[in-house]
Parts: sequence; C-alpha cells; structure tokens
Amino acid sequence: PPAKAAVRNDTYLELHGVHKRYGGFTALESIDLAIARGEFVCFLGPSGCGKTTLLRIIAGLETQTAGRIHQAGRDISVLPPAGRDYGIVFQSYALFPNLSIADNVAYGLVNRRQPRAQIAARVQELLALVGLPGSGAKYPEQMSGGQQQRVALARALATSPGLLLLDEPLSALDAIVRVHLRNEIRALQRELGVTTVMVTHDQEEALSVADRIVVMNHGVIEQVGTPAQVYREPASPFVARFIGKVNRLQAVAEGDHWFRCGDKRLQCAPGAGADFRAGRPVELYLRPEDRVVGALPDDTPGLCTGRVLRTEFLGGNCLVEVDVDGLPGQPLQLQYSLNQMDEFGVREGAQLRFAL
Ligand code: ATP
Repeated sequence: PPAKAAVRNDTYLELHGVHKRYGGFTALESIDLAIARGEFVCFLGPSGCGKTTLLRIIAGLETQTAGRIHQAGRDISVLPPAGRDYGIVFQSYALFPNLSIADNVAYGLVNRRQPRAQIAARVQELLALVGLPGSGAKYPEQMSGGQQQRVALARALATSPGLLLLDEPLSALDAIVRVHLRNEIRALQRELGVTTVMVTHDQEEALSVADRIVVMNHGVIEQVGTPAQVYREPASPFVARFIGKVNRLQAVAEGDHWFRCGDKRLQCAPGAGADFRAGRPVELYLRPEDRVVGALPDDTPGLCTGRVLRTEFLGGNCLVEVDVDGLPGQPLQLQYSLNQMDEFGVREGAQLRFAL
C-alpha cells in the first residue's frame, strides 16, 4: 500500500486527498502529505508520474479535481497564485530578457509598491545571497545558465516567501554547475529556514539535498522517507528499483528469512507486506554493496564464486559485473572499493570469492 506521511505537529504544508484528472486520465490519486516547517522535500519519480502537476497545484497554477491544501494553517485550496505565499523557480530560466538583473530580482517587490531605496538595498542583499554581488546592471543574455538560475532564485526569495517551490531548476544546466548549485541551494535553504519543495527526476539530486523524498509513480506516492530510508528500506519493489542500483534474484522462501536461489541459501531481511511463507516464489533485491569479501571459510552462508565479466570505474568505487556459479538471474553487479580491487585482484576474467 502507498506509504502516507505521518502528520507532524510542526506541519507547514498539508495535502489532503489531492486528486487530479485530465479528462479520463488520472494524473494524481488521493495524495496525502505533510511537510514540516523548514523542511526540504523532493518530489522524485519517472517522467509522467505527476510530480510537476502536484507542485503546480501547490502553487495554484493548476487546479486540483478534488482535495484540500493547507499552508501555515490556512486553507489555500482555491486561492489564485497571487493570493498564495511562495516563490517559484522553473526549469527554464524565465527571466525577463529586456529587464536588467536588478529589475528582474525587484519584480515582485515593485509590485508591492515598496520605496525605491528599500528595493535597491534588498536587491543588493539578494544578489549577494545567491553569489552574484554587483551584477544588477547586467542583462540575462550576459549571464550563464547557472547564473540565470541564481537570479531566478533571488527573484523567488525577494518577498521572503514562506514556501520555495523549485520545478526541476537544475536540469537544464551542465553536470558540474548542477552539482555546485544544488549544494548552494541547500546551504541557502538551511540558512533561511524556508520550507522548500523541489521536483526532480534525478535520484542523485534528491538523495543529496532532501530531508525527505516523496517517491511517486503513476500518480500515487510510493514512499515518503529520508534518503537513507528510501534507499535502505524501500516500501515497494518500484522504490527499490528506482532508487540506486539493484540486483534482482528469483528465489524460493524457506522460512525464517532464508531463501533458496539456485544452489545457494541466502538470508535476507524481508520487505514489508510480502508473503515469505516457505515454498513461496519471491524476488530478492540486492544492492551492489550488499556482499561480504575477505577470507571466507567454505561453510560461509551464501558463499559464491564467479568470474569477472566487466568492471566499471566510478571514482572511489568500481562496479564489477560477475558471472556467479550456480546462481540464476545473472550477472550480478557488485561494488568494490579501489583498495578491494587491488587486495582481491579484481579485474576482467579474474575468479572472485564473496558471500551474499
Ligand atoms: P515530467 O518529469 O516528464 O515533467 P511529471 O512527473 O512531472 O513528468 P506531470 O507533468 O505532472 O508529470 O504529468 C503527469 C501526467 O499528466 C502525465 O501523464 C501528463 O501527460 C499528464 N498531463 C499533464 N498535464 C496535462 C494536461 N494539461 N492535459 C492532459 N494531460 C496532462
């Protein structure tokens, strides 16, 4: 069953039974979610899962078919965007090309009819905050994509909104800028304490910045949890497959958390809600790092031998593809540190010994 977020007493944003239909198509189904004040939450899921639609409903840019939304205790369900309290950054930089950077940032403040000197001071403060001090006189076309997104962020934060909404703000940027900016957004969010919701399809991005991740699929929430929870304790096969790498092994339950897989007996922590009575066919999900290496006695449970087919350098680690003797569902992808690669002589064609 889809996991529902526990309602916390420091709840800032609450969604109750939010539903969205486009004609006969259900884009969102009964979404319940509570986001705490100051929390950084990511909506994560594959293309078409409904994450953008949900963000746009929170912003009032899209109207839910059913359900209610509360922000800071206020029912905002039917308020137009201008009546809500948020700043938003979109994927495309969406700056006004004919306005200077300062005027872009000041846009929301001018609309509020603040005194000129006060606006100018606030704009300078905001540009410094996003790492672009002194660039107010420039125009968007004179700035890189990453710089334009910083300006968009400054503009979104100008009115000190209670809620910051980020709709794939980094996906148009190149990899290095993306990683750099996501860390800065995270640091800024902490500093300001602004409740933040970011839509992303990039699991690494979500895992690295979010306090909690809302994993979505086909218009429903599959799991809400911390990055460690969704990785280590996935609530559904979908979450296990979507987040991180996973090996899938066909096995038969033997009871007491033991499973037979090919000619091996493996012990695994059972996932929630599944039937593990003896004799049941099951699928085991194994992370690449879930293996034991070292001097293993012959009677070690889950002991495997196999031949290295391929190695993939990942930086501090390698992903090693192993053809394991007597194990169906091949090959396995296992992770070895560079030190372990040396220590155990892991290279293409080598024989390996490890335990699952
Ligand atoms: P992506 O990352 O590709 O943007 P998403 O998870 O953000 O995906 P949404 O944009 O929220 O997905 O769309 C959810 C579903 O609703 C999709 O199947 C989409 O085709 C459909 N949808 C979105 N907007 C409309 C619309 N205006 N009319 C009809 N269907 C729509």
